[in-house]
Amino acid sequence: MSNPAQRANKLFVQTFGTTADDLYLAPGRVNLIGEHTDYNDGFVLPAAINFHTIVAVKRREDDIYRAVSDAFPGEIKEWAFGQEGVMTSEDGWVNYLKGFTAAMAASGLPAKGLDIAVVGNVPLGAGLSSSAALELAFGTAVNDCSQLRLSPLAVAQMAQRGENQYVGCACGIMDQMISALGEQDHALLIDCEDLDSEPVHIPDSLSLIIVNSNVQRGLVDSEYNLRREQCEEVASHFGLDSLRHLELSQLEAAKSELSDVCYRRARHVLTENRRTQNASHALEAGNITTLSELMAQSHASMRDDFEITVPQIDTLVEIISDVIGTRGGVRMTGGGFGGCVVALVDHDLTDAVVEAIEAEYPKQTGLEPTVYLCSASDGATRIEKDVY
Ligand code: ADP
Ligand code: MG
Repeated sequence: MSNPAQRANKLFVQTFGTTADDLYLAPGRVNLIGEHTDYNDGFVLPAAINFHTIVAVKRREDDIYRAVSDAFPGEIKEWAFGQEGVMTSEDGWVNYLKGFTAAMAASGLPAKGLDIAVVGNVPLGAGLSSSAALELAFGTAVNDCSQLRLSPLAVAQMAQRGENQYVGCACGIMDQMISALGEQDHALLIDCEDLDSEPVHIPDSLSLIIVNSNVQRGLVDSEYNLRREQCEEVASHFGLDSLRHLELSQLEAAKSELSDVCYRRARHVLTENRRTQNASHALEAGNITTLSELMAQSHASMRDDFEITVPQIDTLVEIISDVIGTRGGVRMTGGGFGGCVVALVDHDLTDAVVEAIEAEYPKQTGLEPTVYLCSASDGATRIEKDVY
């Protein structure tokens, strides 16, 4: 059975012996440009994608949560609201849900219990943010079922708090915010300083292609934390809380006072913020040549200044870039050290891009790519039981 809504209903009935009341859905995401800028209070430009996590839920009269996921068959996880305890790795995937209810309890928000069945087609751990899709599908359900009337942004913030404090992952707000606020055919320019956001139309002439390099990722957490520390070090050198309001001219003038590594890390962040704003204007104006240049510069900056790409990712970008020229843009997306590449390319070139990837990438790297043809999608919402 391929319809995810039907699968969610079926899993619910099989697990809990009764039908679900409601279904909620939340999308995965891809970041078009603006990498490692979120925790520097900068700009990011993600889009929600048409890969979704769906939860089927039924309200309970007590404050117990019971959850099952088809990604981890056979395990029913159970906890009481406000009694999540400390995070344990044996709890695995359900920590993302417990993090949400723990964050609610810590904020003094009450919530009734739920029975929950989770299904979806966001690939897990591929860099498309299946974790935020899970949090937002669940969080939107809890918000609705307990009539909390939180805004989508507030649900996203609650999910981020849960992941930061309970799961112990120091993620920024981007993943949760785009999963909550995505709009069909649009990216979202997010100002991570004040969480203002504005939808940016993606020209109809462009295809959104994501390619997983399938590089075995290592050192991701330690390298991520190191980049954060280096950015903080430069900010504090200038007496600032973040790199957001540091000017490139100030950085250049102080170059000799900084280590070469810290200087380059900061240069990536400052130039990436500018590129992200410019890319959103270029997208809005349908100026694909400029978008192409900005995405190429972003990739070069991640490779040379921030040093978060790996050779296989650079190869993938080159393969795609050779096909599209300036008729589209391509860059690594996500935290780095493997993961995915994102390309926005003229529709007419889609087949040629996919063929080139499938022919060249295995030959040059010994790895098999996974290609996702996507479209920009709406954010988290309740859905009708029979529709998906
Ligand atoms: P990403 O967010 O890039 O996919 P993460 O490591 O941040 O990768 O999150 C993946 C984790 O999120 C999974 O290992 C699992 O614990 C949880 N998860 C995501 N989607 C589901 C799902 N449908 N069912 C159960 N757990 C899920
Ligand atoms: Mg994640």
